[in-house]
Amino acid sequence: MNVWKHFCTITRHKLLVMKGCFQIGLYWQGLIHDLSKYMPSEFLVGCKYYQGTMSPNNAERRAIGYSSAWLHHKGRNKHHLEYWIDYGVPDRKAGEEHRGICGMKMPVRYVAEMFVDRKSASKNYQKENYTDRSPLEYYRKGCDHYMIHEDTRALLELLLVMLSVKGEDATNRFIRYRLLRGKVPYEKAYLNSLASRLRRGKRISEIGK
Ligand SMILES: [Zn+2]
Ligand SMILES: [Zn+2]
Repeated sequence: MNVWKHFCTITRHKLLVMKGCFQIGLYWQGLIHDLSKYMPSEFLVGCKYYQGTMSPNNAERRAIGYSSAWLHHKGRNKHHLEYWIDYGVPDRKAGEEHRGICGMKMPVRYVAEMFVDRKSASKNYQKENYTDRSPLEYYRKGCDHYMIHEDTRALLELLLVMLSVKGEDATNRFIRYRLLRGKVPYEKAYLNSLASRLRRGKRISEIGK
């Protein structure tokens, strides 16, 4: 049982996320982020399957076929896209009776927290190899498998692209003073067009410089 090492790993992550959330004005979310990791159903599993280089959830999956700690975690933490998976609302006018499970549109403040979470995890795992591009590169490896609402996907991608192109300070300002103040349309077509302008090196007035 790696009690101390696991405690340090999750606390290091928590402090980094707290700092990141405070920078964008999400104080309460910064304080309560990932608190359920300290509950026995997550903490003890984390100690037992401690890896050091990757998430203990993967080790638990290999050992017993699923991760009880992750199932506990994603059901309680709104910054995870998996928290927002639910049955879709059928379009009755189009003759739909049912709609299968899909990603719901996440509230903006949890998308912002998810962005900080991913950035912080990349920093902790990559250490001195971390650059502003790392979170985007990590996202691209797994994004095809995400069950996520298309507007939420577009917003997360925009923030990751913005970080890689404009850096952390500019992206934090954009989130704090524009996105979280409701000044950015939360809609796929608009967000994708902003992201592609950023990728092409265009100046965009939404960020200022
Ligand atoms: Zn979490
Ligand atoms: Zn986290």
